[in-house]
Amino acid sequence: MYAQMMQQPLLISSLLTHAERHHGDREVVSRRVEGDIHRCTYRELGQRARRLANALQAMDIGFGERVATLAWNGYRHLELYYAVSGSGAVLHTLNPRLHPDQVVWIADHAEDQVLFFDLSFLPLIEAIAPRVKTIKAFVAMTDRALMPAKSAVKNLLCYEDLVDAHDSDFTWPRFDEYSASSLCYTSGTTGNPKGVLYSHRSTLLHTFAAALPDGLSCSARDTVLPVVPMFHVNAWGLPYVACMVGAKLVFPGPFLDGKSLHELFEAEGVTVSAGVPTVWQGLLAHVEAHDLGFSTMRRTIIGGSACPPSMMRAFQERHDVQVLHAWGMTEISPLGTACTLKPAQLALPPEERLAAQSKQGRVVFGVDMKIVGDDGAELPWDGQASGELLVRGPWVVASYFKGEGGDPLIDGWFPTGDVATIDADGFMQITDRAKDVIKSGGEWIGSIDLENIALAHPAVAMAACIAAKHPKWDERPLLVVVKKPDAQVTRQDLLGFYEGRIARWWTPDDVVFVDAIPLGATGKVQKNKLREQFQDHVLP
Ligand code: ADP
Repeated sequence: MYAQMMQQPLLISSLLTHAERHHGDREVVSRRVEGDIHRCTYRELGQRARRLANALQAMDIGFGERVATLAWNGYRHLELYYAVSGSGAVLHTLNPRLHPDQVVWIADHAEDQVLFFDLSFLPLIEAIAPRVKTIKAFVAMTDRALMPAKSAVKNLLCYEDLVDAHDSDFTWPRFDEYSASSLCYTSGTTGNPKGVLYSHRSTLLHTFAAALPDGLSCSARDTVLPVVPMFHVNAWGLPYVACMVGAKLVFPGPFLDGKSLHELFEAEGVTVSAGVPTVWQGLLAHVEAHDLGFSTMRRTIIGGSACPPSMMRAFQERHDVQVLHAWGMTEISPLGTACTLKPAQLALPPEERLAAQSKQGRVVFGVDMKIVGDDGAELPWDGQASGELLVRGPWVVASYFKGEGGDPLIDGWFPTGDVATIDADGFMQITDRAKDVIKSGGEWIGSIDLENIALAHPAVAMAACIAAKHPKWDERPLLVVVKKPDAQVTRQDLLGFYEGRIARWWTPDDVVFVDAIPLGATGKVQKNKLREQFQDHVLP
């Protein structure tokens, strides 16, 4: 027997319609690439998104065709999020930090039809325009006055001209909620990048879950500043969450240094922010160097790579900003787990509570997870056994775009490539990525713990632990460290710092000091590069 409830497809356009109708006066504030601050409301943004949808139709963008962006976090990018997906096309957010060859490869693979870009990426556009195969037009996200006087790019259009040329009379089409809405490529640290094609349904369900109090917890009373880029897994879904709950949105544009971010937090009364640990490191360094504080910030969501407990301590104990540690990946839209505590952990003494909070956390409803051993058998949830983490759920990838890489699933579960433990209360902790694990004499050493200890040392700015070749044990941990400016610390000091903090045989065999650690396009340490760099390192 069928139920007798309304059959309404879950569509991305409904998020914007809701924000316009019920939170019409709420602001979207953006620091533009031009450097100035732009302000508009959801009501204005909705109107402009509909004008843009008309413009896309006039450009003959068909249902399911890909429209690419190369843009920072800003209101025009948000308009594209809704205009493109809302009208039935697929939003493809390209990562401008990738090498131009990779951008060309991905744009061709995605068969992008039009590319919208921030003016600061004009040199990149000029480099790729003659090489991409399917892009018919390039749209500079700016107004007429700032359009480049002369450019070699053919079919260069102006965003504000497109918006001005069309009216806001547009009805968002209704279609199957399983239709594709957006496309993100994984960073491809191993092999070519692979596309993850989200649907309207998966995005809406993910948005509901992300907004929950034990998810990313956002409400109409919040002012949200996503530092995580809109080209990195849809800024973790926050542009959708903000419309769903009617939060004020603040976009930092390309200005992600500590000073610019702190100014924006204070000027706009930001309550919630989100980003990878490397960004927060810059912010904390600035705040501490200038003896500043946070007057409105309540919470910061940290994910993308492990948040060191020392960073958690700095935010919570020195600045009264709660840290929410979260884990996810492009293939999971991205939210898998978030670490809000249950009553049992809240009752723990402070140090144990911090240890619980440092885990990657519990699944949000919709995602299920398990850990398995080498033989594929499920491992116990005892906080000790560690194995590969698998997940499933309605916003988890089923297969990659164009079937690249074959069927990724194992008995209906997606293998994440992360190694983790799960405790009896369901708190998951990542110990490493499978490919970064250090295999010493047949036993696994997780690099994250080793890095967290090094980062707790006052002289250490950045730390990465990699496997170095060892004649007897195959691999042993090598600690690569960037010192804080003017800090004095020796190899011996750092090795001594591990004493009593970890099993003795986990202690790194050696420390090397470097000026910089290579970061990838999403701000994560590129351990494959480090392993290459130190492949001939001779351990003492
Ligand atoms: P990639 O880094 O491959 O481009 P994603 O951006 O999708 O892909 O990152 C997903 C990976 O990032 C996860 O599989 C995990 O290894 C790592 N990651 C994400 N969040 C965390 C976290 N809180 N702690 C540790 N690792 C994390």
